[in-house]
This record gives sequence, C-alpha cells and structure tokens, in this order.
Amino acid sequence: MQQLPKRNPNSLLRNRIFLYGLLFVSAIILLTIVFFRQKPLEYYDKTEYHLGTYVTIRVSSSTMSPVTLAEAAMTEIKRIDDKFGSRNNGVIAELNRTGELHDIDKETSFLIRSALEIARNTSGAFDPTLYSLTRLWGFDDASSKKRIPSDKEIEDALGSTGFSRVTYDEELGYVSLVDGAMIDLGGIAKGYAVDMAIAKIKSLDPEATGFIDAGGDIGVIGPKYGNRPWIVGVRNPRGESVQDVLEYIYLYDGAVATSGDYERFFIENNVRYHHIFDPETGFPSRSGVISATVIGKSTMLADAYATAAFVIGMEPGVTFLPRFGALVLLVMEDMSIFRSPGFEVYQEK
Ligand code: AMP
Ligand code: MG
Repeated sequence: MQQLPKRNPNSLLRNRIFLYGLLFVSAIILLTIVFFRQKPLEYYDKTEYHLGTYVTIRVSSSTMSPVTLAEAAMTEIKRIDDKFGSRNNGVIAELNRTGELHDIDKETSFLIRSALEIARNTSGAFDPTLYSLTRLWGFDDASSKKRIPSDKEIEDALGSTGFSRVTYDEELGYVSLVDGAMIDLGGIAKGYAVDMAIAKIKSLDPEATGFIDAGGDIGVIGPKYGNRPWIVGVRNPRGESVQDVLEYIYLYDGAVATSGDYERFFIENNVRYHHIFDPETGFPSRSGVISATVIGKSTMLADAYATAAFVIGMEPGVTFLPRFGALVLLVMEDMSIFRSPGFEVYQEK
C-alpha cells in the first residue's frame, strides 16, 4: 500500500494565516469603499416668516433632496397660516365675519375640537375666543398699534369672549359664535402647522430626520444623524439674545413649545404688557410666570398647553397639566424654575 506523503504542519499553519490575512485585508478594503462612498448626512436649513414668527426647517434625507422636503413643509405651513389665521382670508376669518359655518372640513373640525377640549381641560385658561382682546391691545399683527385700552373697552371685549360662546356640532360639521365672539387660534396654530409640516415630510421620506421650529414651538422630524438627540435651549426670558439659555432639553422625538412674555410686548411706565391674556381679566396674564415650556406628544398640544401653563401659573400648572400629557417647566419673575415631575428625564443627556 502506498503511503500518503506526510503534510508539514508548519506549512499548513502558514497557508491558514495567509488565507485569514487575505480575508482581513479584503474586508478592510470593502469597508473603506463603503465608508467613502456613503455621503455624510448633511442638514439643510430653510427659514421664512409665517404665522407671525420665523419658521425654521432643518432637514436631512438619504433618499431625496432635503431642499424639496423643506419646500414642501414650508408650503404646508403657509397653507395652514392662510387657512386658520384670523387676519387672513381662510376659514377662521370667514367664521369670525359670518358668525357661523356649515359643513366645515375635517381639518377645521379637528382643530376647533382640539382647541375647545384644551379650553375645557384648563378651565378656560387656554381660550381660543380671545380675538377681540388680541385686536384691542394691538397684538393681532406686528404692524398694529399697541396700547393699553380703557377699562370700558376691556369690559366690552370680555362680553364677546369665552369658549362657552362657541357652539360646535361635530356630526353636523357646524360651528357658530354668539355675542360677537371671534376665534383666535394664535395659541395653537403654530404647533398644529409644525405637526402637519412634519407629516408632509414623512409622507415623502419616512426616514428623514431634523426638526421644525416655529418661534419656539419645536417638533422633531427624527433624531440628529438618526441616533442623537436634538438639544433645545430654554431661553432666558430676560436674556439679550436667543443664545442666552437657562436650561437644556434633549429630544429624540416628540415636541416642545415655549410661551414667553418676551415674544410680543410693549413697556409703559415700567410695566410690561404682553400678548398672552388672562381670559378672566382681559389683561396680559400676571401669574408670576415669564416663560412656560411644555414637552408634549404633539407640537399642537405642547403649543396650546404652554400658553395655558403661562396663564395658570405655578401651583396648579406644574401639578395638573401632566394629566394631559404636558410636562411643564416654568420660569418665574424672580428667575426661579419649577418643573413638573418627569420633566427632568428630558434634561439628562
Ligand atoms: P403663544 O405664543 O403660543 O403662547 O400664543 C399666544 C397667542 O395666542 C396670542 O398672540 C393670542 O393670539 C392667543 N392668546 C392669547 N392669550 C391666550 C389664551 N389665554 N388662550 C389661548 N390663546 C391665547
Ligand atoms: Mg401656544
């Protein structure tokens, strides 16, 4: 019988090392090619003035042009501004002019229903019927003359405000206003517009990331580079610039909104008169709060509850709003800060 030649164990080992080495080098080459071919995610920014404020869209996509996404989102924001702005020619302006509307569309129905529900939840601290007050004080537009109205004027205006002056029938698609009430969705529409603009982007690219900021109402499109949080600064309400930040919030998704007395105001005899009204007095709210920040499930809810939290003030504000999914951070006149339980979770890196 012929004997098989004996294999040298050293050469066998050498072959194996050579093979593994070859595999390793090929893997490195392959990874390098993949790495350099993949373009790093870049963010595109677009800023325009809508809804009485600057709206910034920061978006990135690995499948389509972020410019296209930002443009589609901005068009959506403009559509909502036109439709729901009390000063524009949309459905709310028509309702305020005629006092009633039949067959309202689903979107209008949703927004009115949401606003009324939040008004009920906050016992009227959020009130979507304050347009006569907004106009009287000159806060309806940047160009309107701002002034302190007489007591008589405020009393008269209060005769046409209050969310109980709205009748809304969802099934009939009917809404009517009594006593000359007029709708002002300024405390909720920015947030709703951000939500709709995000939905628009997601319909075009579900994997897109970024955020939309409408004057401090921020909705997340997706985490930064797909896995990092967006860092949102809570502005010092008495700071010189937006860069002056008191607190940080880390958001992977969801929304945060701030209502502050520094957004629109005038000062007379050392008193600051701002645009967020106490629906009971008809005066700018004096709850001791100078800014209210709310983390919420949607930008619309964060927006509306931030306006409400500003009016409600410290005690009930931070304790009962979480019941409606609104986590609150209040900055008070003396610059002290209060948070509802759970808010701090969003402040940890
Ligand atoms: P925001 O900037 O979101 O706090 O909203 C403030 C805007 O909402 C004002 O400019 C008014 O148009 C309107 N507004 C003022 N006071 C209230 C209130 N108590 N409830 C609801 N909307 C309000
Ligand atoms: Mg608001």
